[in-house]
Order: sequence, then C-alpha cells, then structure tokens
Amino acid sequence: MTPDEPPPAPTIADLQRAKASAEAANEAKTRYLVAVSHEIRSPLNVIYGYAQLLERDDAMSGAEAGTIIRRSAEHVTNLVEGLLEISRIESGVMTIRSDIVDIRSLLDQVVDMFRAQAAAKGLDLTLVVADRLPDQVKADEKRLRQILINLVSNAIKYTQTGGVTLSVRYRSQVADIAVSDTGIGIAPDDLERVFAPFDRGSSAEAQLQPGIGLGLAITRVLANVLGGDLGVTSTPGVGSVFRFRVMLPTPASVPRAVTPGAR
Ligand code: ADP
Repeated sequence: MTPDEPPPAPTIADLQRAKASAEAANEAKTRYLVAVSHEIRSPLNVIYGYAQLLERDDAMSGAEAGTIIRRSAEHVTNLVEGLLEISRIESGVMTIRSDIVDIRSLLDQVVDMFRAQAAAKGLDLTLVVADRLPDQVKADEKRLRQILINLVSNAIKYTQTGGVTLSVRYRSQVADIAVSDTGIGIAPDDLERVFAPFDRGSSAEAQLQPGIGLGLAITRVLANVLGGDLGVTSTPGVGSVFRFRVMLPTPASVPRAVTPGAR
C-alpha cells in the first residue's frame, strides 16, 4: 500500500465485530452502574430512616441516631472513594511515586494500627520479618501501605479464632509479603471471584461480616500497578494466605546519574 492509497474499507464482518465489542463494553458498564447504585442506596436509606426518626423526636437519643447516620455516611464515602480509586487506576491517571521507604517502620505501623482490633477479638497478630530486609527501599509508600492495610484488615475480619501473621521475606530486591490467617478460608471455586469488584464470594459465613467486595479488587490492581502480583491459597475452615510479591529495590541499587570524579 502506498501512503496515498486510502485504507481498505472495513468489511461487514469487521463492523459486526466492532459493534459486538462496543455492546459488550456497554453492558459491563451498565452492570457496574447497577451494582454501584444498589450499594449506595442501602446506606442512604439508613441515613434517611434515622434522620426521619430524629425529626419526629422519637425514643432514640440524638447521639445514638447520630452514630448510625455517621457510620452509614462513612460507608457511602468508602464506596465512592473505592470507585474513584478503581477509575483512577483504570484511566491511568494515578501517578506512582518512588519514595524512600523505611520498610520496617511501615510494617510496624500497619501492625500497630490493628493491634486493638485483633486483641478485641482475642486474635494473635504477629509480624515476622526476614533478617535480610534492608533499612530502606524505593516504593510508592501510600499504595504499599494501602495494600498491607487491606490484606491485614480482611484477615482479621474473616478470622474468629487463632491469629494473623504478616511475614516478609526479601531476596534479590524482591519482597515476598504474606498475610496468613486461621480464619474461615475461601472455597476453591471462589479463589478468583473474590478479586472481582463487588464479588463477595459464595460463603454464607463471609456475608455475616460487613463489606462491599471492593477491597481485594482494588488491592490486586494496586499490586499490579506497583509491578507486583497478588494471589491467594486457602483451605476452607483452616485459613488463607494472601501473597504479594513485588520488586522493592534498595535506594543504593537504583542507578543514579554519575557525577564526574565520584565513583
Ligand atoms: P469485602 O471484605 O468488602 O467483602 P473484599 O474485596 O476485601 O471485600 O473481599 C472479597 C471477599 O473475599 C470477601 O467478601 C470474603 O468472602 C473473601 N475474603 C477476603 N479476604 C478473606 C480472608 N482473609 N479470609 C476469608 N475470606 C476472605
């Protein structure tokens, strides 16, 4: 084909394929919007209901109703933030930072955040760190923290006895981060489903816990955005291990511009 020649006209089959794929994308978007609208409606109904009770000045105290309203409003906020996070990631608007992270301190902070919650459920919460872990690594600190928080938070939520362990091994610039628990576990058929947005799996026991099924979807996308991968192995009734493997180079190993004379 010479540069002046017009491109070949699309065939009927090409047009049909393009139409089918646009329709599939539209259907997926519609399903997504229906799920979101449904999820937003239920906490909003709670807010309306309690606000009406307050208006009528019923038996319930203002403080009690206020707490319920605030929790429901938080639920909506989390939902909307989760969706924004997913759309930011999907549209590639999210910039990935390369912070110098004191990794040991980050791990301690995450575990400390959950100490009270684990203790309240009588669970052990343990941090196991490899000797070889460097003092500093390069990573997007906020996103890394979010991944760890989501995994530890789920492990505690879905565990009733025993405990949760956050362990980190480090070799050749690669960190193997595992969050293991002795919780309800995940059925083999659900192992991939739980990473899909709004999918909470099929376990009736899991549905007893509050949730909207966005945490793992966000966590997996974030793990990928940071260049790592996230997977799970689990035995129902015994426990689960979520593994996040990611390259976390030490600052010294990242090549820098060479200053003349300095070597
Ligand atoms: P949510 O907790 O809001 O439902 P997630 O996306 O974080 O959303 O998790 C999706 C589903 O995966 C949960 O509903 C639960 O069924 C299952 N799940 C996640 N973490 C665990 C875990 N540590 N142990 C057992 N099941 C889990």
